[in-house]
Amino acid sequence: MNIAVCIKQVPVSNNVSVDPVTHSLVRDSAENTLNPADANALEEAISLKERYGGKVVAFTMGPPAADKALRTAAAMGADELVLITDRVFAGSDTLATARVLAASVGRYGAFDLILAGSESSDGATGQVGPMIAEFMALPHLTELKSVEAVEAGCLRGVKKFKNGGAQVRVRLPAVLTLSYGCNEPRLPTFASQIAAKKKNVTVHTNEDLALPGDAVGLSGSPTEVIDSFEPEKKKNAAFLSGSPAEIAEKILSLIEEGNNIVIR
Ligand SMILES: Cc1cc2nc3c(=O)[nH]c(=O)nc-3n(C[C@H](O)[C@H](O)[C@H](O)COP(=O)(O)OP(=O)(O)OC[C@H]3O[C@@H](n4cnc5c(N)ncnc54)[C@H](O)[C@@H]3O)c2cc1C
Repeated sequence: MNIAVCIKQVPVSNNVSVDPVTHSLVRDSAENTLNPADANALEEAISLKERYGGKVVAFTMGPPAADKALRTAAAMGADELVLITDRVFAGSDTLATARVLAASVGRYGAFDLILAGSESSDGATGQVGPMIAEFMALPHLTELKSVEAVEAGCLRGVKKFKNGGAQVRVRLPAVLTLSYGCNEPRLPTFASQIAAKKKNVTVHTNEDLALPGDAVGLSGSPTEVIDSFEPEKKKNAAFLSGSPAEIAEKILSLIEEGNNIVIR
């Protein structure tokens, strides 16, 4: 089973600033890491490879520094790495990002599964996975909390719902997005980290993907951030007293009234 996993490098914390003119995130100074749900997608892909054979190829679109996310993927067990990078991709919204990712995966080879995280911790739209499926004309399942088996050309899993789950099945090839926390991503070993540093990275630029210039980057992005703001910080401390059950009741009504609660 050949599996592509789309992984995104994101800022380590929410402590990133927003450019007041472009309203985009200023990422340069932030420390970056692998998007948490993508570590879950990678773990699922590597477990499937261990069960059914094949290979795992990690794809990331970003600046050259996004190579770091690929090295993390390799240290976890990804077999091959693809960095999709080109100045013309800068400013891509979810549609343009998905278009580029789909073109890169399609150019690289045939895959039985394309996995992604259910959402990123910075943009957090959750749109990219389903959009990749649309561009590749493949079926998709979102927010999976487990993959149970691959049998008779189909994959069976459990989709997350607010109060439980649903057994679902999809015909392969397909795109899946994995919920954050659906499994325990394996920790790279010292040896696997050293080996990951030496792994070859295939680079795809737009010369390789041959997408029209007006289909990528800012000009290929129909959505635009027109304003951004930080939540107003209020300091309305309240001391609640009573039994644990009474305090829980009071907290519940404060939440129902629309208050943001921080418990110290
Ligand atoms: C308010 C706001 C400001 C933004 N500012 C910037 C900015 O300054 N600079 C900038 O570059 N982008 C910026 N973007 C975001 C840009 O549009 C997203 O990086 C991109 O479109 C992915 O959207 P997402 O993070 O919502 O993905 P989601 O749909 O939430 O991601 C789901 C999954 O798709 C996959 N995926 C997503 N993006 C990639 C990727 N690049 N490579 C590989 N896999 C991926 C991952 O598996 C991820 O878990 C901003 C978005 C918003 C909402």
